[in-house]
Amino acid sequence: PAVSPFLDPGTSSSANSLGILQLKRDHLIPTVLSDASSTEYAEGNVVNTRFGSFTHNSLIDKPWGTQILASVVDTGSRGGRSKKRKREANGEGPAAEDAAGSEEPVRGIVKAATTASSGFAHLVPPTPETWTLCLPHRTQVVYTPDYSFIIQKTRLRPGDHIIEAGAGSGSFTHAVARTVFNGYSGLEAPEEDKDGQEANGTTSRKRKRRQQRHGHVYSFEYHKPRAEQLREELVSHGLDPLVTVTNRDVYADGFCVDTEDENAPNADVIFLDLPAPWLALKHLTRSPPPPAVVKSIASDPSTPTAEPTTSTSTPQAPKPFRSPLNPKTTTRLCTFSPCIEQVQKTVAAMRSYGWLDIEMFTMEHKRLEVRRERVGLAEEGLRGANPSPATVQEAVQRLRDVEDRAKVFHGLQKEKQEQVMRRAEAKKRGEKAPAAESEADGQKKKTEGLPPSKHDRLERAKKESESRALFKEGRLVCRTEPEIKTHTSYLVFAVLPVQWTAEDEEKARRKWE
Ligand code: SAM
Repeated sequence: PAVSPFLDPGTSSSANSLGILQLKRDHLIPTVLSDASSTEYAEGNVVNTRFGSFTHNSLIDKPWGTQILASVVDTGSRGGRSKKRKREANGEGPAAEDAAGSEEPVRGIVKAATTASSGFAHLVPPTPETWTLCLPHRTQVVYTPDYSFIIQKTRLRPGDHIIEAGAGSGSFTHAVARTVFNGYSGLEAPEEDKDGQEANGTTSRKRKRRQQRHGHVYSFEYHKPRAEQLREELVSHGLDPLVTVTNRDVYADGFCVDTEDENAPNADVIFLDLPAPWLALKHLTRSPPPPAVVKSIASDPSTPTAEPTTSTSTPQAPKPFRSPLNPKTTTRLCTFSPCIEQVQKTVAAMRSYGWLDIEMFTMEHKRLEVRRERVGLAEEGLRGANPSPATVQEAVQRLRDVEDRAKVFHGLQKEKQEQVMRRAEAKKRGEKAPAAESEADGQKKKTEGLPPSKHDRLERAKKESESRALFKEGRLVCRTEPEIKTHTSYLVFAVLPVQWTAEDEEKARRKWE
């Protein structure tokens, strides 16, 4: 099995690995699940959310997708008590008095949720998509609708090498690491003997070299803390064998890296999420670009200056030209820029450096909510039968009906009282009182022609729904979601064909002769 849960999460969660608690569609909490053996708490740690608290023990060994009930944590002896409180409870701090008399002051009792305040969440596996929705934001990130389109448009596939800059929060990095993964066995945990030799006799050096020939992500970020944090994340996610993170200003120093593979990065695909992608393009050519062209592109006074940098780059003597591109494949490039002015400069630079098939796209991602909706009463000729109104007009009509009925009701009440009084007076005078039956008939007469009561409507609706499937299911309608989490930017795509030399032409000619 692959080491990384992002490549193969398996079928269920396990202790000491990443699980993601999904509270709402866009509200996810990543958690490394720790069981009792790895913490001081009987229930492992606790994830506290606005929908209740979830003990890690309740999240371990659960099939992905399981709905987990929140646990109610007994506040008197809570499972997830802090070390500070534990010290205090042991008489080392001010809480000692509270804990006095308790034989077992620290180990907590965690009960299954029974109160109305506790909710539930779903346990979902770590994937680039779920990670994008809950990763620690250090920058703006590329969201799933954008990166899925980029991956498809650049035809990125398993075994490819991709350059990305800047790496930022690593959202795009995770997505492409999964795409380029081609099942390379080197990602399986090596069984090393004492001398650092893998059980099958290959050394880690050889293993590394094999990896370079398989799918790989070369990620560049000039903000040092961001680069370091991403490196740490990739190690903890088991993706580090697939990604090389370099802390570098790519405008100045380009994309070549010094690894055992002297051709690295040998890139098939490039993705630039940078403030000034056109300044990086001079390094993405197959042969040294003409200095005059580089100068004219760089000297644009409206070019934004680089952000304050913590880059380790120091000015060095110019190195001999080396292309970071795979000479054997057409390079596919995508740039991601929020402003059209950036796009204009990028496209101009792309043309100058020989890029072709330049196209621009924007992602207008909208989620469509399709559901069945109540059918209008008027349309269906069911006036008075539907238990709840489907349109504003119907709601207004319903209110009027209620008012009319109220008027009639109060009128009848009044009339009834007057009748009682009349009968009492008639009795006093020794006259015959009007018959009760004729009074009921009078009332019946008055309610005739009135709008139907709620009871009438429900009764009629029941009958209708039994006889008409349409009424039961409602009409299929489609609504667009008003707000959707995606950072809209302009995506510019281009390709750089393989270089065709006189030698290649000669070879081709000889082949055809
Ligand atoms: N694509 C990333 C993601 O999905 O998480 C977000 C990238 S963020 C918008 C842009 C990053 O580019 C920032 O982290 C910034 O530090 C980095 N950057 C800007 N100029 C750079 C340069 N000259 N060289 C390398 N990285 C640079």
